[in-house]
Formats: sequence, structure tokens, C-alpha cells
Amino acid sequence: MAKLKAPRGTQDILAQDARHWQLIESTASKIFQAAGFNEIRSPIFESTELFSRSVGEDSDIVNKEMYTFTDRSDRSLTLRPEATASIVRAYIEHALDRQGLPQKLWYRGPMFRYERPQTGRYRQFHQIGIEAIGAEAGQIDLEVIQLGITLLEQLGLGDLILYINTLGNQASRQAYTQALKDFLGSVQEDVCEDCQRRYEQNPLRALDCKVPADQEIYQGAPSIHDYLDDESKEIWQQTLAGLEKLEIKYKIDPKLVRGLDYYSHCVFEIKSTSKELGAQNTVLAGGRYDKLIEDLGGKTTPAVGWALGIERLASLIPAAGLDGGLFIISDDALAAQLLACKLRQDNKQELQVDFDYNASKFNKQLERAVKRGYDWALFYMSDERESGKYKIKNLRKSVEHEDLSYQDLVKILSP
Ligand code: ATP
Ligand code: MG
Repeated sequence: MAKLKAPRGTQDILAQDARHWQLIESTASKIFQAAGFNEIRSPIFESTELFSRSVGEDSDIVNKEMYTFTDRSDRSLTLRPEATASIVRAYIEHALDRQGLPQKLWYRGPMFRYERPQTGRYRQFHQIGIEAIGAEAGQIDLEVIQLGITLLEQLGLGDLILYINTLGNQASRQAYTQALKDFLGSVQEDVCEDCQRRYEQNPLRALDCKVPADQEIYQGAPSIHDYLDDESKEIWQQTLAGLEKLEIKYKIDPKLVRGLDYYSHCVFEIKSTSKELGAQNTVLAGGRYDKLIEDLGGKTTPAVGWALGIERLASLIPAAGLDGGLFIISDDALAAQLLACKLRQDNKQELQVDFDYNASKFNKQLERAVKRGYDWALFYMSDERESGKYKIKNLRKSVEHEDLSYQDLVKILSP
């Protein structure tokens, strides 16, 4: 029989990686909560129409990347390719505006896109993101960006560059789109098929093309900055001044447009210069989407947000060892279990304590403790059990403690 394998483009997250994921998620949750963002969990599938109306009928996502199926009642459903549309749907459906604006929300979870799998690109991937709904362009954009940077820095990432651009308001964007279309018309024969289609359907998106030869050609494209009206210019200048004041370093990338339909004003991406990610080096991306809520049937409401890819981020954070932890070496597995249970409880389940169910040979247990990366071994043979005194040895440094009372033991191990 053929071996069963995880579907192409999906992966199992195993022990060491899962620790990185937990660290990313817990750090994110702490940072967002401290900034007054509430978690929102929305369904993994939605009606297909939600994405065709939000992400855009002619976007790459809707055109060729969606996992769409009909259920047993003939409804067309789609595994969510991104979460902003779902969150806006939930915001409208539950009239969250009645709870006061802005609504500051964050989410995490799997997304699904039928893409060609490669390093940093999967068919099921995971995002963490934030959305601030109901605040005009201005300071909130800066806070949203700053939260992304804080999270990446807290996780120990260096080598990051924030790229930022503006798409201006609708009028500026329209004027620019026309100019860009004229330019694209003149290079039609030299660009990829996707870009030929983009020329007709959504010229801006050509600038987001991943083909290097096309990118070369687009160096000659007009710049959005020559088409900004006064309002757009003022908002853009304020954004840059705010970044300076907050001491956030940035680079302006006039060709940064983002792949989705709904953006306006400020758009940004944080890229890593680490070799780890190859071409897939954008870790976090987002921008302002003032038209989306209206497009989905809500009141006109400005909003801004970003999403980051957990897989890409996890491959960049420095290897984390097991944090602390104790392995009980004993010739009586039940006695070891009883002590493990008590130690975990007295450390509020914050100390990792393990033991050997088979009470195998002393050396074998010690080897296992070292191999699994525990900081401490506790020797719990009949002598120690009778005396009520504990002996522990640090497996990384040459430190030992003998004759410890239970209280002292708990104190020393407390993480
Ligand atoms: P890319 O330009 O790399 O295709 P995108 O513009 O399609 O990215 P977004 O929709 O903005 O990506 O998603 C935000 C982040 O989610 C990306 O910066 C990336 O970190 C991650 N991401 C997007 N698609 C994938 C994927 N197929 N596999 C893994 N991570 C992904
Ligand atoms: Mg993409």
C-alpha cells in the first residue's frame, strides 16, 4: 500500500518548531493585549462571495489560488486565503461599531492558497494579524506599524527593513493607474502572461509581479508620488514625520503596491535580509483599506492592518532551547510520578517536570534527560525518598545541590 503523506504544500509542525510557534503566539498575544487589541476567532471557511467581493475578482488569490468547494447543500464555500475579509464581515455582522471605535482586533490561524510550494511558501500557512477598524489615516497607522516592529524585535529578529509607500486617496490612485496603464501598454510584449492580464484587469498589480525580468522593466514605470493630490501628499508627509518622531527606520519603495484590491494611502512590508528565506523574504505586510468595509456592505469606515507569516517568522527566530525543566531519575516510576505532579503544581504548571515510566537503568535515564535538553536532573532513589532530602544536578553547568528540603527545592527550580 502507498505510504500516506501530508498533502502537498502542508506540513506537520514538530516539537522544536512547535516551541517556536508557541513563543511567537504567546509574545504576540501579550503585546497586542497590552496595546488594547482583542483577539477575534473567525471560521476557517466562508462563503466564496466574501473573497471575490473583497480581495477582488481579478486578484491572483481569487483567480487561481482559492480552495473552493461546494458543500452537500450546494453552497459555494472557500477555505479562507486571508483573514481581513472575514474580520470585516464579522465587524459588520455583529455591528461591532456600536461598541465604540476604533475596534482594535487581532487574529491568528491557518490560511489556504493553492500556490507552488517552495521555501517560505505553502498551501496551508499560518498568519498572525491585527486590524484597527474605524480610525482615519494618521497616528493609528503608526501604532499598527510599531506593534509589528515591537513583536519582531521582541522575538530577537535583527536584519529587518521596513519598506513603506502610499497609494494615495482614490482620486490619486485613479490618476496614477491611468499613467501606469499607458506605460504598461508600451511594454506588453516583453512581460509575462500574468502581467498581460493585469494590464487589462488591474494595472497596479503588475508592479507586484514576482518575475525578476518584469521587475527590471518596471524600473522605468511612472511613480505614484508624481500623482498624489494635496490631501494624499499631506497624509503621506504626516506618516513619514510620525515615523521619524517614533524613531522607526524606514525605506520608501515607490513601487510597493501590495497584491490586493482594497488598499489606499499607506502600505508597508517588513522584509528580512537573512538568507534563510530566499526570495520569500517578506515577513509582514499590510496597509490601509478605507474602502473595504463599504464594499462588503457596511458603512464607510476607514481601517488599517497587517498580517505576518508564522512559517517565515519561525524560520528566522534564534533557536530556543528547552527553558529550564527537570527530569526525575528514579527506580520507582510511581513515586516519581507523584513527585512530578506535586512539583508541577507547586510551580503553577510553569516548570516542566518529566520522568521515566519504565524506571530503566540509572545511566539510561540520565542520558535521556541530557538528550531532551533538561536543565536539571533530580535523583530520587530509595535513600533520597526515605531521608526526605533532595539532590539535584544541573546538566548544563557543573552545579549540584544536596540535602535540599522540599521548600528549597521548589525555590531553586522556580522558573
Ligand atoms: P507574497 O508576495 O510573498 O506572495 P502576499 O503579498 O501574497 O505575499 P499577504 O497576503 O500580504 O502576502 O500575506 C502576508 C504575509 O503572509 C506574507 O508577507 C507572508 O509572510 C505570509 N504568506 C503569504 N502567502 C504565504 C504562503 N503561501 N506561504 C507562507 N506564507 C505566506
Ligand atoms: Mg502571494
